Amino acid sequence: MNTKPSILVIYTGGTIGMVEDSSTGALNPFDFEHLTDQVPEIRKFNYAIDSISFDPIIDSSNMEPAVWVRLAGLIEQHYERYDGFVILHGSDTMAYTASALSFMLENLSKPVILTGSQLPLGMIRTDGKENFITAIEIAAAQKNGRAMVPEVCIYFEYQLYRGNRTHKYNAEHFEAFRSVNYPVLAQAGVQIKYNEGAIHQPYDQEFRIFTRMDNSIAILKLFPGMHPEVVRSILKIGGLKGVVMESFGSGNAPTAGWFLDALKEAIDSGILVCNVTQCRGGSVDMKKYETGIGMERIGVVSGYDMTTEAAVTKLMYLLGNGYPMDRLKKYFQTPLRGEMTA
Ligand code: ASP
Repeated sequence: MNTKPSILVIYTGGTIGMVEDSSTGALNPFDFEHLTDQVPEIRKFNYAIDSISFDPIIDSSNMEPAVWVRLAGLIEQHYERYDGFVILHGSDTMAYTASALSFMLENLSKPVILTGSQLPLGMIRTDGKENFITAIEIAAAQKNGRAMVPEVCIYFEYQLYRGNRTHKYNAEHFEAFRSVNYPVLAQAGVQIKYNEGAIHQPYDQEFRIFTRMDNSIAILKLFPGMHPEVVRSILKIGGLKGVVMESFGSGNAPTAGWFLDALKEAIDSGILVCNVTQCRGGSVDMKKYETGIGMERIGVVSGYDMTTEAAVTKLMYLLGNGYPMDRLKKYFQTPLRGEMTA
């Protein structure tokens, strides 16, 4: 019997998989057939590591629900065969992909670790090697025969985060991600220290994937001086089913009549309006100020401490399920994958 941990690496694109052409200096994707030539260190793991590369690879700015469906499908197809999965992905939209997959991979009991880098693997000062090597080790880690981290995570610059709690906050630093409202799941130093109390334990139910993400949604980011026509025209988009409203502070918004009327009209027409804060830390509390109370009264639902990335993908997931409005509202305000603290 083969007891070696087995890991499937899926390369979607992004900086990590690039090498510099020594003569021209141009960045080209490296050949994933020869993964171990690029990162010979991984041969020292006693793991069975296979890899799949997207062809063509995509810059993560071109990420779309169809690609999430493809990733979920690959994981489903190979679920029984591997102990863990590492997805190499551009950092720009990695927090969205990690959030989306956390909802789409139902009853997940194996690690799905997304990682990438700010500098290509083929560059001397790359952060990609450490990110890649440690992501593999975390994907393979087990305790008492079970996966140590059976969640969709992002590993970046020595920290393992719950994927649906992250956002990309820095375009230059190696430490590119943050998870302000939830503790890190592991810290890699001399040893990898797991924060076991913060890691979700799976329910013993059959793994399955959800693929009907519905993107009939919009983000409404508030700012002082917003023109009424901007708000009205967003809320009147044909076929719109849900809006993630990025409000101020603890979930506050203007009290102007035109603003609340526009929201009320949208809600009365069957659009789910969810409230998340523009602050990167803390939570929406619509009971705190007059401005929030008015919105609660007309039926705006709270996203509590969810990131915009999690709220957007959760909305796509819930709308894709075709739930009636009362269940949509209930599930949006219920933690489904540890994405919020209600
Ligand atoms: N633009 C790249 C991407 O997100 C940046 C990166 O790989 O980090 O695909």
